[in-house]
Amino acid sequence: MRTLVISDIHANLTALEAVIRHAGNVDSVICLGDLVGYGPDPNECVGLIRELPNLTCIMGNHDAALMGFIDVSAFNGEAFTALNIQAELLEENNRDFLELLPVRADLDTLTLAHGSPRNPIWEYILNVTTANVNFSHFETIGCLIGHSHVPSIFIENEASLPQLLLPNSGDRWKPTGKFILNPGSVGQPRDRDPRASYVIYDQAEDTWLFRRVGYDVGSVIARVKSRGLPPRLGDRLKKGI
Ligand code: ZN
Repeated sequence: MRTLVISDIHANLTALEAVIRHAGNVDSVICLGDLVGYGPDPNECVGLIRELPNLTCIMGNHDAALMGFIDVSAFNGEAFTALNIQAELLEENNRDFLELLPVRADLDTLTLAHGSPRNPIWEYILNVTTANVNFSHFETIGCLIGHSHVPSIFIENEASLPQLLLPNSGDRWKPTGKFILNPGSVGQPRDRDPRASYVIYDQAEDTWLFRRVGYDVGSVIARVKSRGLPPRLGDRLKKGI
């Protein structure tokens, strides 16, 4: 069974379509939140994700902000502006879908949480120290996260701090113990590689394949402009920052 693992789509339809095409046939999909925020296509992205096969999806901080569950003033200026524009664009059926997403989910041997298992909405796991304290906050073998927009794996080491791996496109990894894994971001990568990032989980082999795919960033930048979003939200896509 092949599972597509995606996160942080951020209303970037062109990147999402490229990932779905590039991934090929999958049996199920895990989406780790932040379907909206920043980008020009909130309805198109939520609509497409809702159609994906055997979907398990959780809520990210931008999704929660758009629903009014958390205070939007906690977001920086550009993110705040984008959320206000998207709140106008979002259709009711897509709003209903986002509204019902859980902030954390358990799926067989995996825990899903957008930011971290300790604080699913807000906490960033960017280093081994933060990862270390989070290992006691989930019972499963693996925890899948998003939020940092950086493809990464933290491997538990009971004797010292966890090991951090920063996988490249094409790297296939097989766990030997407890881990926290981030597939990177579909719609706004921040590791200076502008290509959309995702992971394929092969349940039979128990392997995680990290992949990147390029897409037409220029067309997204044009829609950022035409929808009145802050121009820097388009420019950063070219650089992957
Ligand atoms: Zn995000």
